[in-house]
Amino acid sequence: MIRVTELALPLDHPEDALRAALLQRLQLRDADLLHFTVFKRSYDARKKNSEIKFVYIIDLAVPDEAAVLERFANDTHVRPAPDTAYYPVAEAPANLSERPIVVGLGPCGLFAALLLAQMGFRPIVLERGKDVRRRTKDTWALWRKKQLSPESNVQFGEGGAGLFSDGKLYSQIKDPKFYGRKVMAEFVKAGAPEEILFVSKPHIGTFRLTGVVSRMRDEIINLGGEIRFQQKVTDLLVENGQVQGVELASGEQLRSRHVVMALGHSARETFRMLHRRGVFLEAKPFAIGFRIEHPQGLIDHARLGKYAGHPALGAADYKLVYHASNGRAVYSFCMCPGGTVVAATSEPGRVVTNGMSQYSRNERNANSGIVVNIEPEQDFPGDPLAGVELQEQLEAQAYVLGGSDYCAPAQLVGDFIAGQPSEKLGEVEPSYKPGIRLGDLAPSLPAYAIEAIREALPAFGRQIRGFDRADALLTGVDTRTSSPVRLTRDRERLQSLNTRGLYPAGEVAGYAGGILSAGVDGIKVAEAVARAMLADLPPIADTRGTQS
Ligand SMILES: Cc1cc2nc3c(=O)[nH]c(=O)nc-3n(C[C@H](O)[C@H](O)[C@H](O)COP(=O)(O)OP(=O)(O)OC[C@H]3O[C@@H](n4cnc5c(N)ncnc54)[C@H](O)[C@@H]3O)c2cc1C
Repeated sequence: MIRVTELALPLDHPEDALRAALLQRLQLRDADLLHFTVFKRSYDARKKNSEIKFVYIIDLAVPDEAAVLERFANDTHVRPAPDTAYYPVAEAPANLSERPIVVGLGPCGLFAALLLAQMGFRPIVLERGKDVRRRTKDTWALWRKKQLSPESNVQFGEGGAGLFSDGKLYSQIKDPKFYGRKVMAEFVKAGAPEEILFVSKPHIGTFRLTGVVSRMRDEIINLGGEIRFQQKVTDLLVENGQVQGVELASGEQLRSRHVVMALGHSARETFRMLHRRGVFLEAKPFAIGFRIEHPQGLIDHARLGKYAGHPALGAADYKLVYHASNGRAVYSFCMCPGGTVVAATSEPGRVVTNGMSQYSRNERNANSGIVVNIEPEQDFPGDPLAGVELQEQLEAQAYVLGGSDYCAPAQLVGDFIAGQPSEKLGEVEPSYKPGIRLGDLAPSLPAYAIEAIREALPAFGRQIRGFDRADALLTGVDTRTSSPVRLTRDRERLQSLNTRGLYPAGEVAGYAGGILSAGVDGIKVAEAVARAMLADLPPIADTRGTQS
């Protein structure tokens, strides 16, 4: 295959224009372009007032590749296409009796289990929450009726923390082996829209994601894997530094010398249990702040100018960073175009916000987290679980400020900057369910964070006109941006630094900060487990020559 990059076409180009552009670009006859696929399609809206075009990366086949490549030897935009296919690293022998355990069925556990199942290792998956259908019902009970299920909610259950989300599928991780491609291909196989394979900022949206996740679960089961819901792991069985299995809340013990811990960022009591068991863990940076809401039209106009509302571009997003004078970085996090702010607590008596959207991204507001970095070395040196405690304290405080009924405390941006409580909404209507309570957000975060956000908002207003408009709405608190602890692992075997056979994975290992990167890490860990399990097997007896 040949790869052509930087092929630009107008936004409204007809479907056959791509083929025509390729023929022209490579000076080919029609019959010589055997087939082509779009590897990536992006657009660049950074230059205001200039025409926005789609920019394509295309992979194509021609009868004589070598001749075309030679003709374009000096053209850096015509190159051999890399092989992005996925090749399994192992195959389990048919008589393998031990089964790996995967704890957690978020995107990381899902891909770890899927890959292990595809390689024949028949994993057992333990998930504390419920399957997607029952979990969806429980989650809506908090949003509609203020009823929280501590084991089945936005954070816990099949699909993990990313299930009720925007389903954004992009990441800045380095991916030389194209594992991200494998993640996308599996999502498409399970029913995600095919465009996620090539658009530059793919997203699935929450409703579609639920169907995708349950179809992937079916594949794991069909390949001999086992998935157990409402099975919370409460203890780790370790002998002489080697994992032997896990204990469940029911008291049942499951034995395996290979346990993947794909716990995500909210499994606080499990972090504490692992700490008590002596598993190496350390504090890691995370961020705290608020969700901010604007009319989506304001963002579209600021980002896309005259192309705002163009159907080929959809709802616009943004990414903002500001370095405050007190040394803190303030940045936008998990921006959800045309989405809603959601109640995301997993614990009673706490308020946590996050954002989600549907595939259509057609809700009236844009929202994102406006968050401030927390650095363990600076903010709580020495205590690996201090970040968890800070999150708990802020979430409990937000619950009280919101009226102690799962409504969230909120304030208008103008009042927040002026340091006065809000009493009345402006034009921006809050999307947070079950509801907000207007007031003063200053007591909801440490003073350094409030100071930094106060300074950042007007600066963001200089980048996106209207971002700091007086009636934009802040809703608190956004504390679960990423895991405040890391179960550190070694780089080669991907096992815990001090507990053999324990594979920290995804968000909790510090190797993922989103759905795609969690899926990629799941693949890497599945490969590490498969290799280690094969290495553990007794050597096959060599019977050659023993028979006469
Ligand atoms: C509302 C929301 C919106 C988001 N939007 C996006 C987005 O648009 N794009 C994006 O890339 N990322 C998004 N994220 C972040 C993303 O979801 C996470 O980074 C990702 O899910 C991490 O994957 P993971 O598999 O490592 O952990 P998780 O998804 O957190 O999964 C961990 C799983 O482990 C289970 N578990 C925990 N402890 C135990 C135990 N003791 N026993 C058994 N099971 C246990 C949990 O129930 C959970 O299902 C969002 C997160 C939230 C909360």
